[in-house]
This record gives sequence, structure tokens and C-alpha cells, in this order.
Amino acid sequence: MQVFDNYIAGERVAPAGGERFASVNPTTGKVWGEFAESGRADVDRAVRAAQAAFQGPWSKLSPTRRGRLLMAWGDRIAEHAESIAAMETQQNGKLIAEMRAQARVVKDFLYYFGGLADKVEGRVIPLDRQSVLNYTLREPLGVVGVIVPWNSPTFLTIMNVAPALAAGNTIVIKPSEVTSGSAFELARLAEDAGIAPGVINVVTGGRAAGEALVEHAGVAKISFTGSEAGGKAIAAKAGSRLAGCTLELGGKSPNIVFGDADLDQAEAGVLAGIFAAAGQTCVAGSRALVHESVYDEMQRRLVARAQRIKLGDPLLAETQMGPVATRAQLAKDEQMVQRALSAGAELLCGGERARVSGFEEGFFYKPTILHRAPAESEIMREEVFGPVLALTPFRDDEEALAIANSTRFGLAAGVWTRDVRRAHRMARQLQAGTVWINCYRALTFNSPFGGYKMSGLGRQNGMEAIDQYLQTKSVWCELSDEVQDPFVLRT
Ligand code: NAD
Repeated sequence: MQVFDNYIAGERVAPAGGERFASVNPTTGKVWGEFAESGRADVDRAVRAAQAAFQGPWSKLSPTRRGRLLMAWGDRIAEHAESIAAMETQQNGKLIAEMRAQARVVKDFLYYFGGLADKVEGRVIPLDRQSVLNYTLREPLGVVGVIVPWNSPTFLTIMNVAPALAAGNTIVIKPSEVTSGSAFELARLAEDAGIAPGVINVVTGGRAAGEALVEHAGVAKISFTGSEAGGKAIAAKAGSRLAGCTLELGGKSPNIVFGDADLDQAEAGVLAGIFAAAGQTCVAGSRALVHESVYDEMQRRLVARAQRIKLGDPLLAETQMGPVATRAQLAKDEQMVQRALSAGAELLCGGERARVSGFEEGFFYKPTILHRAPAESEIMREEVFGPVLALTPFRDDEEALAIANSTRFGLAAGVWTRDVRRAHRMARQLQAGTVWINCYRALTFNSPFGGYKMSGLGRQNGMEAIDQYLQTKSVWCELSDEVQDPFVLRT
């Protein structure tokens, strides 16, 4: 059994209250480690450490040096990608290949934002009052609290931390209670790379630890990735003390297949969108809207492929889908499918737990496809966050668009067509922060990512991301020697 403490100012610190919680491996159903159940005192200690680092070593570095340190951190993480990936898979059951790819690719994010650190420039503003030199300074906010979920822990942590650090802020990370382990490795590697202790701190725990971070007066901004409910609660709390927040939340993203699509590509894209990560991705293409002219064929293809997906140990290269991450998620998948059937949907495949030999206690759920669910039913509107696809036919572009935009979410959408005009018309009219045309689930460091409507607030990745962690100061400097007496009338 591995036991983890918090990581504050470069030191392992046991939780003040002495409490710990267990972490369960979803593949085996067994407890493998224990983490600190942090409370207000622990969070306070971490925030103070981050404040001291903000006022001290981190702000004394030139932006170029800061950027180089981020790049060196990226190198260290890439060197340790294998052990980080193994830790992630042990905690969330996602395929080792995906976790490995994520642990490697975060280097690109740290290089990109490291490179941006010395390109944060102000402006000189040509005022009407010409004797004044007016310019802007773009300054960091202070301590940023980063709260992340379990589905892609290292990847999502770096997506938030890289721009915040590049902008000159310091960090307290509160990882998910499901996947608390890898953040410690990230923090340790940061110090290996030369980033001063206290710049990145990690406190583990559940919702209470997250709330303590959001409520702490020393935290200037919260960067949250997680559920809609969590995002709303955090925005309300942060708002009550006028702290900012960036929110990356859930979705019910549509994958829209038109009659003229390349059906091989569309089939692969729809499968990748919903089953590649057992549906446990914020951008899961959980609704496939298919034109009636190709509906039967797409249905046949998707069901055949879904039934052949090889479930098993996520550590094995031949496994195509691992377990879902938690017992609670497994129960949610089952219940939502049952409610969909009660509401009138038809089950095409899956719809039950899967037995995996050697992992009888694992949280495996079969790739599931439902169709013809009523438009108003839960399965067409609410996020499952599991391997459950709702298939639905449409007649024309207008109907496709109406169905696609009919949820309160707006994270992503896929469009499959060979008609370039239709593709871009759809891209303009879809209410989503990302639109993929003839591809799906692609995301990278220099292209902005974020949600419309209830899927989020603010943007990650790309130039937009660093703006989320800066504030602008306007400096006025009178250059003239003339005395500007307020009581002397000037002609
Ligand atoms: P969650 O909201 O339950 O938890 C996310 C994190 O927030 C955890 O660390 C949790 O402890 C903490 N938390 C929860 N409620 C909180 C509160 N009121 N105050 C402070 N902290 C709180 O989400 P989850 O189940 O871990 O993750 C799944 C969700 O994340 C899905 O909805 C998914 O779509 C979303 N997600 C979004 C993105 C994105 O970039 N848009 C990426 C991945 C996951």
C-alpha cells in the first residue's frame, strides 16, 4: 500500500487532521494507495507557500528564464512518461497507450507556453492628450488554484498550469480524489527541472478540499475542469469574492454524419468519439446524428464495430477499452441506459456490465448503442461520461442543426460531409467551442479550446489561454513640464 502526503513548498506534509482516503484500482476493484484528506488548514498552508513563491523566487526570474524552466520541466515529464502513465492507468483504468501519449505530449504544451512567457507585451496607446505617454503592463494575478478531474489528470493539469506559470503566477493543484497520484510526480519533476519549491504545490482531498481552495482569500483565480455542477458551484463561490475563474465543463457533443460523407471515415470518427476512451472524455461524441439516407448502414457498421471492441486490462497493448473509472460511474452508466430504455429508446448493443476474465471485480461496461430515443429524453440531453452512444436520424441540414444545438451544452461538434459549403455553414451555426470537420477528438496546444453555453467559461490552449492568467495595468506618464492647476482656467 502506497501512502501519499501533500506536497507543499517542496516538502511532504502530512494532513493536519491526520485523515486519509483510499484509492481504488478500477481494473481490479482493489485499494492500492492512500492520500491525504486535506482540510482548510492544509489548503491554507499550500496557498501561503504559493504566495511566498509568487512574491519571492518566481517573480524575480526574467520571463525568458521562466519559460526555459517550463521547457526543462516538459523534458523531465517526457523522460518519465512511462511511470506517469502507469500511475494514471492504475487510478482511472484508461488505456496505457492513451495515458502514455498524454504524458508525452504535455511537453509540447510546456514548450509552447514556455515560449510565450517572454512574448507577453503591453501596448502604447495614442491618447488625445499628446503630452501623456500611456502604456499597458500585463501582470500576473498571484496564486492560481487548479482543480482537475480524473479522466486525463496529467494532461488537464498541464493544460491549466502551463499558461498560468508562463504568465508568472504560482500554483496550488487539487487533483481529483480518483487520480491524486500523478500530480506529485509532476511537482517533484518541476523542482528537478529548477522550478523553485512553492511555485507548484499539491493538496489532495475531495470536494471539501476543493471548496477550501475556492474560498481562500489568497487565491486570485480558480482554473476548474470538471462537471457542470462543480463549475456552477465554483463560479458562484469565486464570484462572491470577485475572484476569476476559468471553467472547462461537460458536454453532449453531436457527431453529425451527412448522406455524402465518407462513411469509412465517419464510422472511425464516431467510434473514436465515444468508445476510444470508454466515453470518459469531455468531448465525447455521445450523440450521433445520421442522415436518413445512410442511417441503416451506419447503424449496422457501428453496432458491428462496437460488438468487436476488446475489453480488458488497460495495461495490455491489445486492449481496446478498459473499465470505467469508478464504481459510481459504472452505476451511473447502468442507470442512465435503463432510464433511456424506459423512456422509449431501443437498445442496439451493450447495455450491461461486461465480464472480463481475471478481472471479475473490475468496473467494465459494454460499448452501448441506443437509438430513436425521444428528443426530450435524458439520454439525448445529459452527459453520461461512459461508453454510451445515442444514435438518431435526421432529414435535412436544418433538422440536424436543430437537434445538435438543442442541449444546454456547447463543447464540441463533429461534421462529416464531402460538401465544403455545407461543412462551413454548419461550422458557423453550431453552438460549440470546437467544430471538427471530417475528424474528431483532436486537440492541441496552440488551438484554443473551451465551451459555449453551459460547457464552460474562458479558453485554454493557444494565445487566448495566457490572457486568462494576466491582468492589465494602464500607466499614464505626463511628459510636459506645464503645471496642470485644476483651478486655473486654460484657453
Ligand atoms: P467533478 O466536477 O465531480 O470533479 C472535478 C474536480 O473538482 C475534482 O477534483 C473534485 O474533487 C472537485 N470538485 C467537485 N465539486 C467541487 C466543488 N463544489 N468545489 C470545489 N471542488 C469541487 O468532475 P469529475 O467527475 O471528476 O469529472 C468528470 C467531468 O469533467 C465531466 O463532466 C467531464 O465532461 C468534465 N471534463 C471537462 C473537460 C473540459 O476540458 N471541458 C475535460 C475533462 C473532463
